Amino acid sequence: MKITAVDPFYLRMPDITTAADGTQDTLLVRVRTDAGFEGWGECDASPLVSLAVYCCPMSHGNIINIRTSLIGETLESPDDVVRLSEKTLRNGLDIQQIEHAYSGAEIALWDLIGQKLERPVYRLLAEMSGTSDTAHPKLPYASVLFGDTPEETYRIAVGLREQGYRAAKFGWGPMGKFGEVNDIALVRAAREGIGTEARIMIDAGVVWGTDHETAYQRAEAFAQFSPTWLEEPLSPDAVDAYGALTQKHPSVPVAAGEGSNTYRMAEDLIVHGGIRFVQIDAGRIGGIMPSFQVRQLAEQHGIQYVNHTFKSHLSLAAALHVFATNPDFSLLEYPAAGSALSQRLIVEPFPVASDGMVRVKELPGLGVRVDTAAIRPYLASVRIEVGTDTVFEQGSL
Ligand SMILES: [Mg+2]
Repeated sequence: MKITAVDPFYLRMPDITTAADGTQDTLLVRVRTDAGFEGWGECDASPLVSLAVYCCPMSHGNIINIRTSLIGETLESPDDVVRLSEKTLRNGLDIQQIEHAYSGAEIALWDLIGQKLERPVYRLLAEMSGTSDTAHPKLPYASVLFGDTPEETYRIAVGLREQGYRAAKFGWGPMGKFGEVNDIALVRAAREGIGTEARIMIDAGVVWGTDHETAYQRAEAFAQFSPTWLEEPLSPDAVDAYGALTQKHPSVPVAAGEGSNTYRMAEDLIVHGGIRFVQIDAGRIGGIMPSFQVRQLAEQHGIQYVNHTFKSHLSLAAALHVFATNPDFSLLEYPAAGSALSQRLIVEPFPVASDGMVRVKELPGLGVRVDTAAIRPYLASVRIEVGTDTVFEQGSL
């Protein structure tokens, strides 16, 4: 089949705030073919910056946009997805953020080829890599922001316990901004609110920059509350500082990786940063295949792979296919709250089953359907003109 259209869609809530909530807007990518199939993907990045990578005018042979690289191409097999990724990234060599933007299209290509071959994406990945094609359930952890105070954090944690979550991650907000006493009070509130049975994770939201000494002190101070990990205590690219931190073997394992927008960044954090959990967002790193390659690297290094997902359940679907077949990678970041846009984006979101687990859908492609009618009200009107040329005009959903 041939690719006939590659359409990015900029969707947004009416009011955007400074909260660390990535569900307030999004860039969806729809890829259509002459066989009647359409695939969908979602980028976790600034939507308009990413949209530009789909339509920017050619500057020279190394700045050719994603649409130009994909439209008219043949898509018959998973090998074609790999080939088209190589072509698109080569054509956009000097578009510095191309991997980030391309993630949506790459995910859509997997959705398409899975539909055409009538296989879930995780099975195609298993076949390509010669590994087991048995999918395993994941334990969802609710991913929420700290409250502004320990008291508010406690209330949030109690609410999660009442919803039945057996694991939750608290992040960003005031963490790291008001000194050690407040930091410890926040983590204590999270632990006491959710109870001793549940797993908790702490996301420091890159707050200590390159200060690995403070990060180490906090890891030791938080150990009394038994968090599964301390996430992103340092800047995404502070690889040397991560290495210095992990060489001291902090009592709480260190997690990072969501900022990786190339395979190489994740590899650096694993090999030189010494992290114990690598967290990959398929909507940032270039899509499903580079995420899968990081998963394989994590397996080789004996560390844990976890998804990073703070978007809709379309992104969650892409994330699940990457590591569904590894039973040891059992935790799943599960968007538990989020904007109305993110919650309405998929016709049937992933349910938490009665056993408390989430399973990949045994359907062709990603296995989810975008609810175009439900999200149409959030579609932004975009028109980009250069002189008398219309470079981009937002199409209809
Ligand atoms: Mg995080």
